Amino acid sequence: MTSSERREALEAPAFTPASRAAALEAIAAEVRVCTRCRLHAGRTRAVPGEGHPDTEVVFVGEGPGLNEDHQGRPFVGRAGDLLVRFLATIGWRREEVFITNIVKCRPPDNRDPEPDEVAACLPYLQRQLQVLDPALVVTLGRHSMGRFIPGARIGQAHGTLHPVDPATGAGSAMVYAMYHPAAALRAPDVERQSYDDAAGIPAALLEARRRRGTTAAGAAAATVAPVLADGGPQDAFPTTPPDAGPADPALDAPTFF
Ligand code: URA
Ligand code: SF4
Repeated sequence: MTSSERREALEAPAFTPASRAAALEAIAAEVRVCTRCRLHAGRTRAVPGEGHPDTEVVFVGEGPGLNEDHQGRPFVGRAGDLLVRFLATIGWRREEVFITNIVKCRPPDNRDPEPDEVAACLPYLQRQLQVLDPALVVTLGRHSMGRFIPGARIGQAHGTLHPVDPATGAGSAMVYAMYHPAAALRAPDVERQSYDDAAGIPAALLEARRRRGTTAAGAAAATVAPVLADGGPQDAFPTTPPDAGPADPALDAPTFF
């Protein structure tokens, strides 16, 4: 990333809810017809990502699988079902967060994305993060974690919170690492650990809010944080303004490492 790109990442424009939704849809429209890397050749549908445009929390997986490729939506197969169960244990729904991937098109046979494919696709994620300006990024799996916490090892980093390099586009976010739900589907101990890690997400969000409330960018973001129209206090948690405080004082315990 050049210094001018870094400056652009830091100087993301302020959005209204309507302009934020439009900006996300503009990126999605580009992704759907993208031919920047070889993965476009094998896809049925690209998977830009989806969720609440005004959320504070963005989940980042690796890349679409078979079901996602067919539907054009992220995390709609078995791994997605498990992700939804993790969210349910903390009273959140997938519609309240934003869910996307490092690469937007399915790698053949679910192989790992190649470095040049990741590099080609990353500008889309960077732009999505600039628009969403999340307080918290939750990485799902090693590949996503590697983008936000370079050099970390998933065995140590899962369940821990770290500052995010502004070059990722998430200039005022912190990142919380989790195992990939597909890994949890394969190993009961990873699944158990993932439920524990999911239980730490609300405290991670509180800490991330607290931290960005101490920066100028965070203070500006706090004034536009909206609440979902259809939700109660619990449902609106990922989009509650930073000064609203914890729904449950017990959630206030920081999990900062
Ligand atoms: N696995 C991922 O990493 N992303 C998806 O969207 C689905 C499965
Ligand atoms: Fe474009 Fe990303 Fe799909 Fe490659 S994976 S074709 S860069 S959208």
